[in-house]
Amino acid sequence: MQITYFDNAASTRVDPQVVDAMLPFFTDCYANPSALHSPAQAAKAAVEEARESIAELLGANDPSEIIFNCGATEGNNQVIRTFDGPILISAIEHSSVKNTAENTGRCTEVPVESTGTLDYEAYERLLHSQKPQLVSVLLVNNEIGSIQDIDRIGEAAKRVGAHFHSDITQAIGKCRLDLANRPIDYATLSGHKMHAPKGVGVLWVRTGAPLAKFMVGGSHEGLRRAGTLNVPGIVGLGMAAQITMQTAQESLHRMKVFRQRIISEIEANIPDVRTNGQPDGAPHILSLSFHRTEGESVIINLDSQGICCTAGAACSSGKGSASHVLLAIGLPEEWLRGTVRISMSRFTTEDEVDRLIRALIAAVEDVRSRARFAVG
Ligand code: PMP
Repeated sequence: MQITYFDNAASTRVDPQVVDAMLPFFTDCYANPSALHSPAQAAKAAVEEARESIAELLGANDPSEIIFNCGATEGNNQVIRTFDGPILISAIEHSSVKNTAENTGRCTEVPVESTGTLDYEAYERLLHSQKPQLVSVLLVNNEIGSIQDIDRIGEAAKRVGAHFHSDITQAIGKCRLDLANRPIDYATLSGHKMHAPKGVGVLWVRTGAPLAKFMVGGSHEGLRRAGTLNVPGIVGLGMAAQITMQTAQESLHRMKVFRQRIISEIEANIPDVRTNGQPDGAPHILSLSFHRTEGESVIINLDSQGICCTAGAACSSGKGSASHVLLAIGLPEEWLRGTVRISMSRFTTEDEVDRLIRALIAAVEDVRSRARFAVG
């Protein structure tokens, strides 16, 4: 069966150009870049070139601010564990921020509005009552695509002397980054959300910001992250950064058009549906909720038609806990379980969007009619 992939917020296809760039670093240039011989120095040069590409993509002051690691989960852990005082996070952080911060026992959540944007009044109040050392708010939410005003959030954090971290994993190629010129100290991302492989990522740390040692061992990455560098992954990430810079504008426009088209077609053909998050949220993420409809059944039906989506973590296995993101935006119970997340990439085509729309209309009708049958 033909697979039509709409789960790019979970992971993306590795770009064939990225694969090509990586291959020699498995077969020919496989030396450890910490050694002194020529093959090692060639590997090191490739890593440094990738560091420059990432620094350019992020708009960093200097490539030395880029630390390669295994992904956003690791970066988020390292930033949060740097601090031993109060921490403020938004109520819609990814679990790698949420659980790490909660585990410290010093974390307070800032509520969000129904669109997923921060509740600024509550934020100002908590900044003054909690006096945090660190504020962590993600730029683009992975479930509903809401985009935060990180300038406003970072500036307010700076006024009370707090450091500011933003998980930018879902924002790469979708939002302005320009990190050097914004009130941010740390940013984290994973390669596999931007057409590079899994298991490689970046922690950006502004020069001078504190950072605890997390992985302890050799003197890699300026003593900030021990462990032999994942040279092929890093080279792939560098190539993915270059391609993102070349293609973002055009693919962003295409995804915006696709997103709007899906919303209009679904609203025109399926009653009782709502779009979660901001109307002009991140172009690649669309969270839809269908009233009194089991989202997981819709996902399974779509899968049987070769279409990959997720239930937006609305609930796990039908009886698990509801998504903390959907709860935080105040989605009522009767909509909560009927949530489907559709996420696109620059590889998404118009044909695929057409197929998705047809399949989704059929899937929701089918699930609703079965539910009526079961009840009646
Ligand atoms: N942050 C966000 C916003 C994400 O979407 C993800 C992946 N779902 C992560 C962090 C964690 O990424 P990884 O699993 O690659 O460490």
